[in-house]
Amino acid sequence: MSKKGTLEIECTECGAEGYLEGWASINASLNPELKDKLLEGKLHVYQCDQCGASVHISAPLLYHDMDKEFMVQFYPFGMTESYRVLNNFDRHAKLNANWDSITESIPEYMSNIHVVFSMNELVRYITFMDRLIQHKKSIENGLTACFTCDRGVPIGELCYCVSRNKAVKTNDDMDKDEIVESMTSIQVCGECFNKPRAKDLDFGELQIYQLKLEIKGFSQFRGWRTKQSNDWQPLKKIVDSCSLCRTSIDSGDTYTKIELSEEQQIGDLVQTEGVYLLSIICEKCAEKYMVWLY
Ligand SMILES: [Zn+2]
Ligand SMILES: [Zn+2]
Ligand SMILES: [Zn+2]
Repeated sequence: MSKKGTLEIECTECGAEGYLEGWASINASLNPELKDKLLEGKLHVYQCDQCGASVHISAPLLYHDMDKEFMVQFYPFGMTESYRVLNNFDRHAKLNANWDSITESIPEYMSNIHVVFSMNELVRYITFMDRLIQHKKSIENGLTACFTCDRGVPIGELCYCVSRNKAVKTNDDMDKDEIVESMTSIQVCGECFNKPRAKDLDFGELQIYQLKLEIKGFSQFRGWRTKQSNDWQPLKKIVDSCSLCRTSIDSGDTYTKIELSEEQQIGDLVQTEGVYLLSIICEKCAEKYMVWLY
């Protein structure tokens, strides 16, 4: 439940006195409209009747998300001078929430309340937790997460995955070479893939090091696939020289192929619709430019 109170305000502009309906706590699960207001910076904004000034009021606020299972307490920093506030914490700065009014046993997260001292940090922490929980959920659901929009790719929607596959050349047909190491470097959902090309997709800060080659290869593929450009097409799978240094790759050599696969999850299975070769890299260049996380 969200808790409301009336705050007595003295306008910082003209000194006139007034009242503001303030929230001591917000339950985002029960009152999503209050969460929206908070994230838009519109909560606890006082508009003076006398002079029209609008003022942000700094009042303690407890934020509770029951679905995502987290709580954050905002205290205006000045309040840390108050004994009453300090008494709410143990010596390890753990906030002793007062749940006396609740008789049934409380979930563990409710005794792990994160504390912040500015409203900006409150908004950031909530945004961070929303992203984190969304990410964890998409992993739990076994869904592929899109690198650019962060959502789990829904079942049945095409997903475009770039992977690095290390193989030893034993065949003329690269598809028959045995793969010894493999990792995904880019995953993009169908919705992002089909966005107009005006602005290139933003991969933000990625956890793994990526070759510019992979991002470039991906956007070339995208142009070709969506028929926006025909000055590029996937390599034939008989390529025998490094895309970077042109050294020939002979039988017995280890090489890395950068491939893009179109995949779709159907039920519990991931079905590959097509695999396209973006580039191949000799062992020397791979050592120089790639980081293998194994
Ligand atoms: Zn005023
Ligand atoms: Zn996406
Ligand atoms: Zn090379």
